This record gives sequence, C-alpha cells and structure tokens, in this order.
Amino acid sequence: MKTFSTIFIMSIAISAFSSTNPGKDNNKDKPDNFKYLTEQFADARILRYQVPGFENLSLKQKTLIYFLSQAALCGRDITYDQNYKSNLLIRATLEAIYQNFNGNRSDKEFKKFMVYLKRVWFSNGIHHHYSTDKFFPEFSQEYFVTLIKQTPLEVLPIYDLQNKEQFFEELSTLIFSPDVAPKRVNLDPASDLVQSSASNFYDGPTQQEAEEFYAKMKDDAKKNKQSTLVSFGLNSKLVKEDGKVVEKTYKIGGLYSQAIEQIVSWLEKALTVTETPEQIDAVKKLIAYYRSGSLEAWDEFNIAWVKDQNSLVDFVNGFIEVYGDPLAMKGTWESVVNFKDVEATKRTEILSRNAQYFEDNSPVSPEFKKKKVKGVSAKVITVTQLGGDCDPTTPIGINLPNANWIRKEYGSKSVTMDNITYAYDRAAKGNGFLEEFAFSKEEIERADKYGHLAGNLTTDLHECLGHGSGQLKRGVGSDALKNYHSTIEESRADLFALYYIKDQVMIEFELIPSDEVAQAEYDSYIRNGLMTQLVRILPGKTIEQAHMRDRALICHWVYEKSKDKNVIEKVERDGKTYFRINDYDALRDQFGELLKIIQRITSEGDYNAARELVENYAVQVDPALHKEALERYAKLNIAPYAGFINPEYTLEMNGEAINDVIITYPDDFATQMLLYSKKYSFLPVR
Ligand code: ZN
Repeated sequence: MKTFSTIFIMSIAISAFSSTNPGKDNNKDKPDNFKYLTEQFADARILRYQVPGFENLSLKQKTLIYFLSQAALCGRDITYDQNYKSNLLIRATLEAIYQNFNGNRSDKEFKKFMVYLKRVWFSNGIHHHYSTDKFFPEFSQEYFVTLIKQTPLEVLPIYDLQNKEQFFEELSTLIFSPDVAPKRVNLDPASDLVQSSASNFYDGPTQQEAEEFYAKMKDDAKKNKQSTLVSFGLNSKLVKEDGKVVEKTYKIGGLYSQAIEQIVSWLEKALTVTETPEQIDAVKKLIAYYRSGSLEAWDEFNIAWVKDQNSLVDFVNGFIEVYGDPLAMKGTWESVVNFKDVEATKRTEILSRNAQYFEDNSPVSPEFKKKKVKGVSAKVITVTQLGGDCDPTTPIGINLPNANWIRKEYGSKSVTMDNITYAYDRAAKGNGFLEEFAFSKEEIERADKYGHLAGNLTTDLHECLGHGSGQLKRGVGSDALKNYHSTIEESRADLFALYYIKDQVMIEFELIPSDEVAQAEYDSYIRNGLMTQLVRILPGKTIEQAHMRDRALICHWVYEKSKDKNVIEKVERDGKTYFRINDYDALRDQFGELLKIIQRITSEGDYNAARELVENYAVQVDPALHKEALERYAKLNIAPYAGFINPEYTLEMNGEAINDVIITYPDDFATQMLLYSKKYSFLPVR
C-alpha cells in the first residue's frame, strides 16, 4: 500500500510535455469548476473526487459498479469494530445526540461537539487514523453530560433504562479518560503489544500467548502435512475463553455475520453482471470464502482474482491489510471499487512488461532476486467507491494480494489511483506549502512542472515493481520481522521506486522527458522525510506510522551516510531550515545501497538488523526541527490529512429492469456519514 506521501506538493498537473506522452490524460488537465475541497476541521480536510469516464461505461459495467459499491459500504461497521470494541457504541451515541439534541445547536460548544463527531467518522473510531493515538474532544465532560441529558433517552443506545446513569458514566469514561484505550496500535517493544493495543483483534490473550497460539497452529499444520502457506490468523479475533485461547472467525455464521451476509448478498447480485469468466470465478470464490471463513478459500479467491486481468471493472473486498494489528497478522476490512483508466495504464504496462529488467538490474544481491518475475500487472484506475478501512482516508496505490507465495507463483495486481491523486493535487493548489519549505525557486518550478508525474510514477514503481520484487530465503516466514515488518516492507518498495525513477531507462521508455522528473521526486522525498512530514506529529511524540517511519528511515540514513560528501545539505536561511540536495546521482547510489541492505534483512528475516535500522533512523524526532516545522506550517493553516466524500450511485429503474446508474457528487461529509450509518449499520453496537 502507498499512502499519500507527496501530500504537500502543491503542483497541479500541468501538461508538461506533448500529448503523445502515455502517462497523461490531458483532458484532466483542463481547469474545471469542480469543488475539490469542501471543509476543514482539526487536522483534517474533506475532499471530493470525480469519476471521469463513468458515463461512458456500458450499463452492465455501471450496474456491476453499483452492486460492488453496495458491498463496499456494507462492511463499514466491521472496520469500526475492529479498530476498537466500543467504537460502534460511541458512534451511535454521538449520532443520536447530533440528530436529536434539544439544546442550543449554534453555540461554540456544540461546534466543538461536531468537530469531535467528524473526527470519529474520519478515523472510523476514537483513535487517530494515522498516529493511532486516542484523540479527545475540545468540549468538557460537563458539557457532554448536558448533551446527553438533553437528548431523548429512547434514541440513545441504552438497553437498560434503569441504568441510564451508568450509561452516561460509561460513555464519559470511554471518550474522556486518557487511561482507557490510549492507543490503537502500540508498537513499543518494551510493552506487551497485544495487551497495550486497543484494536479489537485480541480479547484476553497476552502477546506471548498469541504468538504461541500461532506458532503451534503452524507446527500442527506442518505435522498434519497441511499447507503452512495460508495467512494464519488473518480473518479472526483471538480470545480467551475459560482460560483457553481460541479463534473467532469472521464469516457467515461467525463473527460479523450480519454485515458479511449483506456483503455476500450484493456480491451475488454482482455475479449476474460480471464481465469475464475469470471475474465470475473470483466473485464466486470470494463468496465461498465469506461463507466458510477458510484461509485456503481466501487464497483460492486471491489466485482467481489475480487471474482476472481483462475485466475493466475491478474491486478489493476483504480482511486485508495488517497495519491495525500490532503483531501484523490480522486483516482490517476494506474495499475499493474501480475501473481501469485505459489511456493512463499504458504507462504502467511499460513497467510491467519490463519487470524482469528491473529485477535483474537492481542493486540487490543476486541470491535475493527473483529468477523469474511473474505476472506483475499494473494499471492506473479510476476509483468509484471507497469502503471500510479505505474510507474516508484512502491509500493512493494498492498492490495485492499480500500473500508472498501467491505473488511469487501467480503474480499480483498493482494499481495507482489516479483520480484520487488528481483530487489531492487540485485541492492543494496554491496553499503556500511548497513555497514555504522548498529551498529554491528552481525546486518549486520543478515541482510545479513534474511533481504530479513524478509522484504518480513513483507510486507505480512502488506498487507494481517494489513490493513484488525480491525473494525470501527458504524457510523465512513473511512475519519474521514482526513489529518492524510494515516499516521495512514499505521502505523496500519506496527504495526500489526511488532507485529506478532516476534510471536512464525511464527516459528510454519515454516515461519521463528528462532527469528533472527524478530530481523533483528526490527534492520532495527528502524534504518530506527529513522535515515536512513532522507536521503530522504532535510535539513530544515520536514517529509511529509505518509509512512515515519508512520515509524517515530512508532519509535519515542517506543523510547520515553521505554527510562527508555533502550530498544533502542542511541550510539555514533567515532563521529557517532547508534541505538542499547537492548531488542527485550520489543520492541515487545511496538509495541503491540501502535497498541492498533492506532486501537482505527482508530475505533473511533478520529481526535484529530490522530493529536496529528502525529504532536508529525511523522513530526519533529532532525536537528543534520539529518545533520549527510545526510553527512554519501553522502559519499556512492547512490541515495535514485528507479524507474523501464518495460519489453516490442511484438506480434508474424501468419497471423491474435497471435502466441506468446515475452518479452524483454530494458535498457534505456529515450528511454522507449519517446516510451510511442509517443504511449500512448491521452490527450490534455492543
Ligand atoms: Zn506499499
């Protein structure tokens, strides 16, 4: 996965060169009146994205998108519940207050209440979506009591009206107490990662018990000659019952059944309008998996899904990314529905076709390279619906499946979400960020000219080649790096992209017009990793999130290792700090050097080396630089995180038959969130 690392690039997509360039869809570069930015609260901005080309799809394709989008929305509550066991209860309470509070709705305090509710929607729960720290309301606990007392009791999620005081107390504690569930994902190795994390993947077991449980499961599988390749623990909660550790599987008839039944019913409808035999097979296998909860069935689905290369419409749907689990085993539910941007995909097809070239020529040790890179398919997509963990905040690139053995034997699908990055760029136009932090006028011009292309191409390289490159040594498990896995894996993919964007071959393939594109990417990457990403961190905190750690690791490492040659220079000017790159070629060599090291660590599952790199380069923050970055950033008044309002799709019926699917672009975040809660709440709130 790639999150929006270049969030601060202010460039808009200027048609920098001729229309024969396959990497550009020039229609989109025309100015438009679409409102990309709708509002800003706390540290979040709400954006909208367009779905260019939707109207030109066939009725069948539009209908398929409609059904898959409904399936994407039906899993929303699962994500809330996985993030924290009381999230649904809290959300239901806040929404009931918002819709029914009888008191003054126009005073300052109520506005603070609205900000808190929006933040809960934005993060799918009470923990910051990025830092995973619990966030707190700006209003007081006393005001919360006022809110709740001036809301009719019958609309609140109280089961036992005799005990309403107890309910008030419970909710106050959940929302205000800094001691209750302070962190969603705790990666501090000094603590029991499982017990100290608030995410809802474990209930009862200690970290050691959880690790032993899965070690034994793998052992047993080996003894019984069953496959040890499945992603153990991916779709279940581990609980302790009567002193025994057991798994509760997410499936029909199991945990989250009510929501999964709804997802499946829409997938069954989707089966009637699939585009290819491969797609029918994939959807059928996904349904079978949701029914059985079997991890073999999950792998079978993924293999079928990778084989479906020709459908224009595609989707992600399932328990997938493991960032929410401190042990990196359990998948948070997510969905993305999309269709291929045929024109822009020509860019990624060039990369895919030459995957073996990139693998063979990388600076990695030969023993850790794939002898034969299989089926790295990459495409540029137009997103039509975000769901679960991808909504409202979304990655900008995805490479799936995650199972290494499937990637090795069947390949993977890699996507770049072009209409999303486009919305980011448009919304950021002219907000002053680049001008504040870039060292020189040349840097700013380069970013304006090439920033969008450089960012997209880096994402393509990261997703379609980076994650798929390299191989593990025999006997090394994909979970060997444990809590450092995500950071190391993202660094590996980033380094692959950084190394190759400056390869001569990129110009030969006509993917970029000049070396300046790579320079623009290096400028922004170094600026971000050494300084500007610090604006996302609260004073006194360290770096936690895997992608931020990945960028900090890379930038601090190359900065330190090339200090004697002054490759990257820290410059003070008018009391402000800048980072200037003096030698782009030498910097590329450094990226290659680190890629080699990180691939070795990954291939050998060298936990100690991973820990050393991450703890030394990726976690700590220079307090003075942090303070300065925050102060300079505060003056710009830009919220650092962005989330999206989805388009809405409605069926135009002709009797029993679907006549058309109409797309509209709502522009109010709260309205959409309330609509989703009303239509797609299938799980009990406690
Ligand atoms: Zn990634």
